[in-house]
Amino acid sequence: MTGSDSQDTRILAPGGALYWDTIIIGGGPGGMGAALYAARALMSTLLLDRTVLGGALLLTEHIANYAGFPEGVGGFELAQRMEQQIRAYDVDIRMLEVSALESDDLDERMFRLVTPAGIARAKTVILAAGNTARRLSAPGADEFFGRGVSTCAVCDGAFYRNKAVAVIGGGDSALEEGLFLTRFASEVHIVHRRDEFRAEKIFVKEATEHPKVHFHLNRIVKEVRGTDMVTGLLLEDTTNPGQTEELAVDGVFVYIGSTPNSGIVQVPVERDEGGYIIANKRTQTNLPGLFAIGDVVSGSRRQVAISVGEGCIAALEAENYLHELKRAGKLPEDSTAVAAE
Ligand code: NAP
Repeated sequence: MTGSDSQDTRILAPGGALYWDTIIIGGGPGGMGAALYAARALMSTLLLDRTVLGGALLLTEHIANYAGFPEGVGGFELAQRMEQQIRAYDVDIRMLEVSALESDDLDERMFRLVTPAGIARAKTVILAAGNTARRLSAPGADEFFGRGVSTCAVCDGAFYRNKAVAVIGGGDSALEEGLFLTRFASEVHIVHRRDEFRAEKIFVKEATEHPKVHFHLNRIVKEVRGTDMVTGLLLEDTTNPGQTEELAVDGVFVYIGSTPNSGIVQVPVERDEGGYIIANKRTQTNLPGLFAIGDVVSGSRRQVAISVGEGCIAALEAENYLHELKRAGKLPEDSTAVAAE
């Protein structure tokens, strides 16, 4: 027993084994997809999420582009169905926030995860921790966060029935969520720093044709203004610096991209300049045994179908990796399922 283990309890795998075959960090569609395949491969599988299963699905009201659902499906419903499916298998699901993913101190080829309930050790890790919406840096944006400023139209949109809202950004999220907000709001003002959009053309077309949507192009937010709640934005014209104008709105929805939830990773994994994990098509990172999937990965397209597919690949690759370790006689001594075959 190491010094750290004498202080921390351990989260042991079935049969009292020290090492899990795989630990999946993140219970969104990618993590649940991975859990399904890992459990079906009879790998001892621990799935960790800090809150509830569902991830970004829970922030999406309606998913129209997931195969097999011709009428579309609610994000919450799809999350519940995925959870129901993995709970039918032998997956240990725990609501625990991982604070560090490190090399194992007992065997450096293995991994060690720090959680509030103790240390969990794994032969493979599938990182499916997703990303977090980026916040606006303008004065007032933090002060009024939760008092008119939001990063989740699905969560907060209904508060703005017959009110005016602004949406910041020009990507798919901004346009899609802006259109979603037209269900409640009387006016949706899309504020974008350029006059060209990253968003899919179909979203731009729909927004342009929608009577409630108004565009404020080449504009950046200089200030979020309010009293108790947001009352408006101060915008600056990027083509005419210094020229500002006020836009009266009751709510501000920020969709200016996201940052990866990769800060817990303390092993020397390759990342891009934004901190997203670099993984190949087989979901492998530069570190043997560490796989990364979904929205935490560099170049993520934030599609449910992609995350689920990558979860499948990661579990199959993890299983394959364990077999290779076994063949090479490099598995730790107390290994379970795969080693016992
Ligand atoms: P994104 O594509 O990175 O777009 C972010 C937008 O915010 C860009 O228009 C960017 O402007 C703007 N922006 C960035 N920083 C800003 C700042 N500091 N101030 C003002 N504006 C700022 O992010 P996303 O829309 O969240 O999409 C991420 C990925 O998910 C994309 O691959 C997207 O296709 C995908 N996605 C797909 C769907 C769907 O298929 N239904 C829905 C949502 C997201 P610039 O353009 O000038 O850089």
